Amino acid sequence: MDEIDGLGQLTDFRRLCSDLTLQTKKEGFFKDYLASIVDQVSEEEFQEFSKQQTDYDRIRYCWTLPALHKTMKSFRPSYRGKSADESAKRREQGNEAFREKDYRKALVMYNQSIAYAPYSSLLEKTTLALALANRSAVLVHLKEYQLAVRDIQLSLQSNYPEKQRYKLYDRMGFCHQQMGETAKARVAYTVALDCLAESDLELHALENWRQTIEKSRSKLPSSSNPSNKATMTNELPELLGGAHPTIANASRNLSLKMDDNCGRYYVAADDIKPGQTLVCEKPYAACLLPGKFTSHCHHCFVRLIAPLGCMTCRGVFYCSVECRDEAGSTYHQYECGIVDILTASGSSILSWIALRILTKGKLEDFLAARQQLEKGRLVQQADNYSCIYHLATLSHLRSDKDFFDRTFMALFLFQCLRASGFLQTRHRYEEDALNITDDEIYIASLLLRHLQLLQFNAHEIHEFVQLNEKNMRSTKTVYIGVGIYPTVAFFNHSCRPDVARYFLGTAMVITSSRSIRRGQMVAENYGPIFTHKHLADRQQSLLGRYWFQCKCPACENDWPVYDGMPDMESVLICCPLCRGPVQSVNSSYARCTKCKKQSLWEAIRRPVDEISSLYQTGMRIMDSGQVDKAVQVLSLYIEMMETLVDDLPIRELFLAQEALRLCLGTYGTKYVATSHLSFKAAGANLNV
Ligand SMILES: [Zn+2]
Ligand SMILES: [Zn+2]
Ligand SMILES: [Zn+2]
Ligand SMILES: [Zn+2]
Repeated sequence: MDEIDGLGQLTDFRRLCSDLTLQTKKEGFFKDYLASIVDQVSEEEFQEFSKQQTDYDRIRYCWTLPALHKTMKSFRPSYRGKSADESAKRREQGNEAFREKDYRKALVMYNQSIAYAPYSSLLEKTTLALALANRSAVLVHLKEYQLAVRDIQLSLQSNYPEKQRYKLYDRMGFCHQQMGETAKARVAYTVALDCLAESDLELHALENWRQTIEKSRSKLPSSSNPSNKATMTNELPELLGGAHPTIANASRNLSLKMDDNCGRYYVAADDIKPGQTLVCEKPYAACLLPGKFTSHCHHCFVRLIAPLGCMTCRGVFYCSVECRDEAGSTYHQYECGIVDILTASGSSILSWIALRILTKGKLEDFLAARQQLEKGRLVQQADNYSCIYHLATLSHLRSDKDFFDRTFMALFLFQCLRASGFLQTRHRYEEDALNITDDEIYIASLLLRHLQLLQFNAHEIHEFVQLNEKNMRSTKTVYIGVGIYPTVAFFNHSCRPDVARYFLGTAMVITSSRSIRRGQMVAENYGPIFTHKHLADRQQSLLGRYWFQCKCPACENDWPVYDGMPDMESVLICCPLCRGPVQSVNSSYARCTKCKKQSLWEAIRRPVDEISSLYQTGMRIMDSGQVDKAVQVLSLYIEMMETLVDDLPIRELFLAQEALRLCLGTYGTKYVATSHLSFKAAGANLNV
């Protein structure tokens, strides 16, 4: 390839990659909005923009451009609202499916009914209460007792008609009974009996109910025996050697280094074996992909079964009251009214996180930290914003056009932020939209900074999907969101990674997937793996997307991709004395082609057969689904192989590392397609 041509192509490619970090969809109005601004900006204005040295100055300058104000529309918060009528309609459809014993369809309709149900007045809340109560009945049929109890409790809190409360308490008793919670079941049945007094049942029906409930209560065993139905504990695993004294969320066996070539990166502070936990980190901020809004919890990213909506909008859903309230009391109180604008704009998920980093915090904290941040003072605490602020932006390598586009995305996000009320200046967006305060320029400049640093430091969040619980190989990882993890962000890339990732909700767990010796770099993988992509492709994609030239062992030695890799036998069969290649003399002996010594074939073969059988065992155990044991055996195999062959690409070694990765993946949030209930909350169709 012609060098100059190659460079030209690369620049285009980098440009394309860079654009994709701003905007993912071809549709969406931001693209047209930006094009229209570009049309109106004169050559002189662009020259003037290029002279601006800081993000603050870039924002301030662009705010003065007539093009911005001619094109800019002021936003009003808007959301797809609730409707008691729609809720009732869908509840009726749910009832119909319920009568026909189509419980899954009934659940879908009740989910929609709940999404539409308003929260505002007490009277309206009854719509919600009825939908929740009906859903609890379906959940009982689907054996989701825990969720059924929660829905009953919420229904009772939401003005459920007093006359029918006995039914809900009776159902609650049944659920507790099924879960082995006898004491709770007894209380629920007793309350159900009390509630009968308020019912408007006729005498005969009343007596029937009383007898049924009393019978259920009397049949309860005397002692409790809670069933151990797997409830997701989401407990984070322990770090190898305990927590690091200064690096938040990292193992004591890591240490952070810095130099001019590699920036900040981790090395092993002590020898690390495969399968060890090196980092467990909750994201500083994470955003769910809009395409997953109806299937996953907006806050913790688990699959939804019986979702709860936001109390105001119909755009986002939560797995629990806790998630709903945590999001609602922090970022979603601002984002509620701008979710639709952001979706319609076609902004990339990175743009959403750029905003989320602010909305999850408090305006006054950002304003108070300004001087410290601008002085470059880093506070080494994972929950401290300065850890985000000081991540690499590569601003010195950024083109003027890139800065220009990013500045306008930042200004667009800033206007969303204004509309959201986060800036506490909502009243001004109509009469006073052209004014901007110094504090506001600073906040917009933070958005511009986020857009730069997220390009290089954000991580995709995946869900581990097992198509069939019995089959370990029928798995895939599905991209569901993006997060920013300040500790993980310091891992450098290698096309032959040293670690594997899995997720517990949104928390990322990093484990070693090979042996790493003290002092060696510990690297993760940003995308291209040497076994799947040739050197030139890897280098191009890393240079285009992350702006660096990879110098990992696979790149430096141009390792073969999977198809060209030697197998274990061909590498391990060698002279026991000098490890030179051997040639067969007869069926018993072989001769070394290097040192010319003869050895017994048996002596040559024995170690190879031993390690080979360890490999086979590891794979077999994994296929039988004994994950813990497979992790142990595979880790041992990897460790032994690596002492024998050091740093060589060998097919079985690579497959064992992949298998280890797979097994570790099952420790994270897992979705088993055949046994897991999961439904779209629909009705939340993003185009409604
Ligand atoms: Zn959740
Ligand atoms: Zn909302
Ligand atoms: Zn590489
Ligand atoms: Zn030899």
